[in-house]
Amino acid sequence: MKLGSTKRVVVKVGTNTLTDKEGLIDINYLNDFTKQLAKLAHSGHEVVLVSSGAVRVGMARLGISKVKSLRESQAAAAVGQGLLIDIYNHLFQQEQITIAQILLIADDFRVRSRYLNARNTLYTLFEKKVIPIINENDTISAEEIKFGDNDNLAAQVTGLVNAGTLIFLSDVGGLHEREGSQLGKRLSRIEKITPEILTLAGKSTSAHSRGGMITKIEGARKATEGGAHVFIANGREKNVLERILAEEDIGTHFIPQTTWRDSRKRWIGMSSAVNGTLVVDDGAHAALLGRKKSLLAAGIVGVIGQFQAGDIVAVSNLKGEEIARGLVNYSAVEIEKLKGIHSRLFPQILGYQGNPEIIHRDNLFIFRHQKETDHDEE
Ligand code: GLU
Repeated sequence: MKLGSTKRVVVKVGTNTLTDKEGLIDINYLNDFTKQLAKLAHSGHEVVLVSSGAVRVGMARLGISKVKSLRESQAAAAVGQGLLIDIYNHLFQQEQITIAQILLIADDFRVRSRYLNARNTLYTLFEKKVIPIINENDTISAEEIKFGDNDNLAAQVTGLVNAGTLIFLSDVGGLHEREGSQLGKRLSRIEKITPEILTLAGKSTSAHSRGGMITKIEGARKATEGGAHVFIANGREKNVLERILAEEDIGTHFIPQTTWRDSRKRWIGMSSAVNGTLVVDDGAHAALLGRKKSLLAAGIVGVIGQFQAGDIVAVSNLKGEEIARGLVNYSAVEIEKLKGIHSRLFPQILGYQGNPEIIHRDNLFIFRHQKETDHDEE
């Protein structure tokens, strides 16, 4: 591993790490933390900070001890985000660093034009040596389209900017084995995220942040499948960022599952929201995974959801497991008519000569954890 050479680093910090028991910003912590980030930036890294905390900080300012509705937490986020950025701005200024605020919602990763605009903005900020600070735009992000947690958002941002390293800073120092209800030994290196690893994650117990170990591991899965190194470490550990990049054994390190870097496929695979699902039979499943074929209509047995040509859909097997995601060439209504048939019959059914593939291989992202035997690069 050559972490020092991974120039672009995404760091995600959680609410519980940057606020105290009252929900007030822990200024001593942030002072130290921003100095660490500034040091990375000054040593040539391109740093993106994904910072939570807006809801909690806003609640404290508004005197809310428990939010009663989505709109109340959205209002709290709107107040808290300003306070948070104000402090970051002040602290980074002391380190001669300019920051930028970027607020994103899940749709921004799904709509290609928005995705590209966000990416162009971020790349331009890197050129200008600015540290972007990203959070979910809670105000406009309705429950059903939420990232849900900033761990997932950070994983998507890692793909968006093609970062080599993603670091989750939290109040736990990584993933641990379980000994009954107690935490056991820390796992320092995870080669592959297996179902056993997922069971070690347990449930989120915090009242103020949406994530937990499970969302970090899901984020780690996405980002490692996109080719990044991922770490979970205790944000309060001294010089934690520098020590991780110096390859010191702290926290848990998740190993990248691929070196593949194609941004289009990455966008497809990392997209948080899919517009529907195509269910395929065992033959098509095998063809996609093993033989690297495009998805043809003959192997499709079910169409779920409403989507248009050009949308991203999930591909699942007969067991309901998601095996791939792809950009679809036909709408749900059309595929409903085409499923199970040979492409030579398409003109008769559609009235025009469409693409022979439902999803072309070039527009298909196969989830790595599905590829037991196939270890070639995409
Ligand atoms: N966007 C939320 C906030 O700023 C954080 C979500 C999370 O805890 O992951 O408070």
